[in-house]
Amino acid sequence: MIVVMKPGASEAHIQHVVKLVREYGLKEHIIYGTDRTVIACLGDKRAVDKGAIENAPMVEKIVPILAPYKMASLEVKKERTVISIGPKQFPIGGTKIGVIAGPCAVESREQVLQTARQAAAAGCIGFRGGAFKPRTSPYSHQGLGKKGLELLAEARQETGLAIVTEVVGLEQIEEILPVADVLQIGARNMQHYPLLEAIGQTKKPVLLKRGMSATLDEFLLAAEYIINAGNPNVILCERGIRTFETYVRNTLPLAIIPALRERTHLPIVVDPSHGTGHAYMVPSMCLAAVAAGADGLLIECHPDPEHALSDGAQSITPEVLTQLMVRLRKVAQAVERDL
Ligand code: PEP
Ligand code: MN
Repeated sequence: MIVVMKPGASEAHIQHVVKLVREYGLKEHIIYGTDRTVIACLGDKRAVDKGAIENAPMVEKIVPILAPYKMASLEVKKERTVISIGPKQFPIGGTKIGVIAGPCAVESREQVLQTARQAAAAGCIGFRGGAFKPRTSPYSHQGLGKKGLELLAEARQETGLAIVTEVVGLEQIEEILPVADVLQIGARNMQHYPLLEAIGQTKKPVLLKRGMSATLDEFLLAAEYIINAGNPNVILCERGIRTFETYVRNTLPLAIIPALRERTHLPIVVDPSHGTGHAYMVPSMCLAAVAAGADGLLIECHPDPEHALSDGAQSITPEVLTQLMVRLRKVAQAVERDL
């Protein structure tokens, strides 16, 4: 349930309600809005005397939260969440569209630095690249690990781009934290709840990818795990779902953008690389995602896709990325956004 405070309620009024809420064994989550403050109350509400809270000074009303996810829900927070990422604190979730590009896997110093320089020159805000890779086959390239993180740190230092890199397992969090500006949770790990909770205990922005067979509610409940553990900086990433269709690697449901908009305040990013599996489809789907209201894009980009160690078929070149950015800017303007 949500306790809606009257406009002008003081911090003392708010803390009084918090005290009552805690007495009932509930956990509070306070959202200070521009107009009024609301207090989301989480936990088992069966023993709560709602009247006692409703009668507290400066409480306007109590309303139930109908969605299964609470803090991720628009019911609790009406204003869109804007998350600042990287050394330059680029915003994501506001009017500006944020493009994050880079290879699937970190392979070499030259590959990383060349791609990062070109991504920065093209106007990207983030550089993606996996040092740890969740590969379908145990025989595929698993990432450079620690060495890969060092290369990412160098790219960050030189370009100022926000580093987005995946945490595959719990034991990697500590070593990834100093390098990553955004922790990526992969599709395969979307329901790895201990990992979501551990990531939630860090305050680092998180890019949460939708599981390939997860429903929209399951996706938002995974985000709820991270927020509930203490980290509100969750960026949702649609990366395509598994369907019967075979001409694409995954089916990219762009309708999820307006659907999420109706339900959540969290920023929405689309990954058309994994969403299609084919480099030639990526630019069109990027344009479509921005037209449909995405806040950002996650794009695989490799200077030599034919020789990529991972996901070459869906990686565009830095040259294609540069041209794409020009077209994206036009679409962004057409939908009253910026890039
Ligand atoms: C990736 O971004 O390279 C990746 C492994 O993505 P996903 O988790 O969406 O498959
Ligand atoms: Mn990939």
